[in-house]
Parts: sequence; structure tokens; C-alpha cells
Amino acid sequence: MKYFHSQFDFNQIIDQEKPVLHLKSILKRGSCTGAYLFTGQEGIGKKTAAICFAKALVCHNPSPYACNACTSCQKIPHTFFSHPDISLYHDVYKPVAISRALLLKKIGFREEEFERVEGIYLEACRLLEEKEFLLNPINYKKGINIIDLFYLDPDIIFVEESGKCYVSAAQIEKNLDSLSKGDSYSYLLAKSLYTFTSGFYKQSFKIGKQENNEGRENIRGIVKEIYLKPSEGRRKVFIIDDAHKMTEEAADAFLKTLEEPPKDSIIILVTSKPEMLLPTIHSRCRKIKFQPVRRKSVSDFIANAKSISQEDAMLTSFLAQGSISKALEMDLEETLKKREEIINLLSSGYLRDIEKFFHFAREFSGEGEKDRKRKTGLTQLFIELMLTLVHDVILAKSGGNVDSILNFDKLAELRGLSRNFEYEQLENIFSILSRTSHLLSRNLDVRITIEALLAEIGGVKGMSKGKAP
Ligand SMILES: [Zn+2]
Repeated sequence: MKYFHSQFDFNQIIDQEKPVLHLKSILKRGSCTGAYLFTGQEGIGKKTAAICFAKALVCHNPSPYACNACTSCQKIPHTFFSHPDISLYHDVYKPVAISRALLLKKIGFREEEFERVEGIYLEACRLLEEKEFLLNPINYKKGINIIDLFYLDPDIIFVEESGKCYVSAAQIEKNLDSLSKGDSYSYLLAKSLYTFTSGFYKQSFKIGKQENNEGRENIRGIVKEIYLKPSEGRRKVFIIDDAHKMTEEAADAFLKTLEEPPKDSIIILVTSKPEMLLPTIHSRCRKIKFQPVRRKSVSDFIANAKSISQEDAMLTSFLAQGSISKALEMDLEETLKKREEIINLLSSGYLRDIEKFFHFAREFSGEGEKDRKRKTGLTQLFIELMLTLVHDVILAKSGGNVDSILNFDKLAELRGLSRNFEYEQLENIFSILSRTSHLLSRNLDVRITIEALLAEIGGVKGMSKGKAP
């Protein structure tokens, strides 16, 4: 569950004087129209600000800020998600993950043939990968996993848990056209893959509503809603979180609306990755930029919100890398315990023994854990802690600014660790981890993601068994 302030009020947004002032002046002038784009790092108050803004916009008695007393305002702290004039959308597009077995079956192979057709399968994947159709090339290497991911960035695919794919046919067609024509098995398989997946593309614009992830809606449905009159107030506000997850087609469908929304509808796009949005979207929105929050502010806020010591709060804010929402969700004791395990791993040289590392990472990320949410949480924790540690080891090795070290309570250990690795290795590992963290944030399957990560780290020069420097 994402943390939200119990009362949505601008005063509760930390360290964002400039964007908040900007929003307040829009409210004061009563000049709010059209579409906005809220940008800035994750977990620093963008969505909260969007809700505060929306709350004031639909308030029956604005001052010009929300009065916190009218029937509209009162609906917001408690039953926000059912406020008739504010819609919050998130998880617009989910990436696809599909099992190799399911795919082969769909293409027409029988289960007892799977073994036999592995070579063909790998060859087809190689072919598709060459054309940048598959997401993660290492996922289909022999023995790694039975699951593949399709590339979905950002205009291909997302999936439902059932394993159904929704693919942008145009994109696949484009890719397939560039495949050399031939009658090899792999070409046929690639072709079947295309036929299988493209059949589903028509419904590729589905959107999950916050209140109910099962109930998905078409982006055209949203557009239609935008043109409806507000149900009770003066306006309707549409907040689309993680707007960068929109596919190109969805964005296209949205452009006209963004350019000229009906005068009583306001659209707010929220994103931590504005560079992934089309320039045409940027040009149609007024931009509100959020700054990183100072560590000290996060720490003060956390100390107060969680009633913990200043010292613990400071460590929490550093480990959360300045994200308030991450800091709020963090269980410090558990995090430190887990961090100790990783430090031991790094100093034991296990990273060079890919099998041991595999074993460790699987256990760490809750292998066998049935609760998917917890499993994802553990995997995220693993990757984030690894990221902070590798970041720090790089800094320690370069003799850089100690103030930027995140695990500041472990300075001696970090210096020790820095002697175990070469620069290049650390930087490679860091970039693999960042990429993996990015994939996880797009709801990719945890197991595939972690295995891909491990295999990639194993492939870093000097990391494989027996080659330790
Ligand atoms: Zn009000």
C-alpha cells in the first residue's frame, strides 16, 4: 500500500516550495485549464501534490485552496478513490512475461516435443532478439529459464496474469518485415510467434484503476470520460500516474484530448521518467518540476512520522535515497539485517562464484515464497541494497566525497570491499542493477528478472568462477 498523507494539504509536502507555489498561484489566479505534467524523482510528493491540487480544484468552497470542510473535501481523505470527480490511474501498461512452455504450446508443439525443439526455439529467439523484438536476450539461454520476455518499450506489450499477450501489431510487423525471409524452422517459429501474439493487439490500451486493479479500462474509455460533465462539482480531474508507461498508440489517442481538453476537465500526468514521454506530450502540457528532497528534510519527517531516533531516521533516509515514500515503507531493522547479509556476501568473494551467488540471491528474494507481493518486495530490497552498496564501494574506491556515501555507518567495510573489485566490474554491476531495478518497477516477473540479473552479473568480465583476480 502506497503511503498517502491522511489529509491532502499542500503544507504537508516537504521541500517543494517552488512547485507548490506555482500550483498555488494557478489556483489563486483561477486560471487552471488543460493538461499538466508533474515530473521528478520517485517518492518525493508528486502524486500527493497532484491530489492536493485536484482537491482544491473540485472543492465546493475554495479559498482558493481546499476548504477541508465541504462535502467534496471530506470525501478525499477517507474515500478518495471514490470521489466522483477525481480519477487516479496507475499501472497503465504492464509488461509481458510469458513462459516458454506456454509459447511453444500456443505455437503448436506438444509438451513431449519441447526438449527436441529447444534448439529451434533458441534460434528463433536469437533472430527476434537481433531485431530488438525480445526484451532480455539472456533470458532464453539454455538452462536459464523457461520464460521469455518480449520487448515492450514503450510501444509493444503488456500482459495479464493469465499469460495472455497484447501486442502492438504495427510494431511487430515492423520488426518482422526486417527479418530475413527464409524457410528455416526458426524463421517459421518467429513468424508463428508473431501470429500468436499479434492476434491480441486490439485490446492493447487497458488501464487499471487504483481502486480495483482487476477492473481495467481502455484509454479511449478514459478519453470518453474526460468529455463527460462533472458529476457534482465544477470540474473533473484526471491523474495518470507513471505516465511514461503509456504506449505510443495510447499516447496518440490521448494527444488531441491533451491539446484541447474540455474546459471543465483537468488532466495531470505524473512521471519520474519524463524523457520516456513523446515530445508531443511534453509540448501539450504545462510542466511542474519537483526537486529532490534534502536528506535532512526526509530524515526529520521520518523521525516524526515513525517516532524513531534521529540517527535511525537519517540512516533510513539515506538508504531510501531521498524518497519519502520508500523511507516511510522501510522496515529499518529488517533492512539492516539484510544489508549485513549482502555485505558478507560481497566480502566473501561469492559474487565470483556464480552458483553460490545464485543460491544466495534466490534465498534472499524469498524463493518458495507464495505471497507475490512479499516476494517482489524482497527482490526489490535485494536490488536496492546492492545498488546502494555498489554505489558506495565505487565512491570509496575513488576517494570521492564521503558525504555522498549512503551506507555511512559502514565506512570501514566499504573501504575493505573496494579492494576486492576492479572499477570496471563495479560500474558494470551497477549498471546491470540499475537496469534490473527499472525492469522490476515495470512489474516484470520477479523470478525472471532476478535470474536475468544473476546471469548478467556472472557474465561481467572477471566475475566467473576461477577467473577471480
Ligand atoms: Zn472544500
